[in-house]
Amino acid sequence: MAVLPIRTVPDPILRKKTKRVTTIDKSVKKLITDMLETLHADEGRAGLAAPQVGVSLRITVIGLPEEEDIILINGQIVRRRGERIVNEGCLSIPGYMGEVKRAESVTAKGLDINGKEIRIKGEGLLSQALEHELDHLDGVLYIDKLTSPDTLHKIQPEDTETE
Ligand SMILES: [Zn+2]
Repeated sequence: MAVLPIRTVPDPILRKKTKRVTTIDKSVKKLITDMLETLHADEGRAGLAAPQVGVSLRITVIGLPEEEDIILINGQIVRRRGERIVNEGCLSIPGYMGEVKRAESVTAKGLDINGKEIRIKGEGLLSQALEHELDHLDGVLYIDKLTSPDTLHKIQPEDTETE
């Protein structure tokens, strides 16, 4: 296991559309193990997408306080409900947060680490994390979705959760 370095803007890998995982082999499993370790290396981390650790594959992990970790391979959002404005940050854009419009709840589908199809329905922070992490897989960052560029502001590093 290893804690991987986090890629930050303007690293071009963050803007690349990722490839689907065709086989969940040893290297994919090792990557997921390392992503989970990286996610838990700092308690402010809520989620991580593979491009953030330099791998252009459709893999995301989410770890929220008091919840079981979620591993999602080839994940995609299949349903969005409602709208709300949230304050959001990203591990790949350290030191900043901004206002983004997100759904109230989403349903995502994909594969678990054993290749079994799963559906995850999330509200609140989980819904936000699913949208944020799955956006990463298409090269989309929250700064692309700001309600207004003026909402982007500097934060103290220990302030809040970032994805
Ligand atoms: Zn992010």
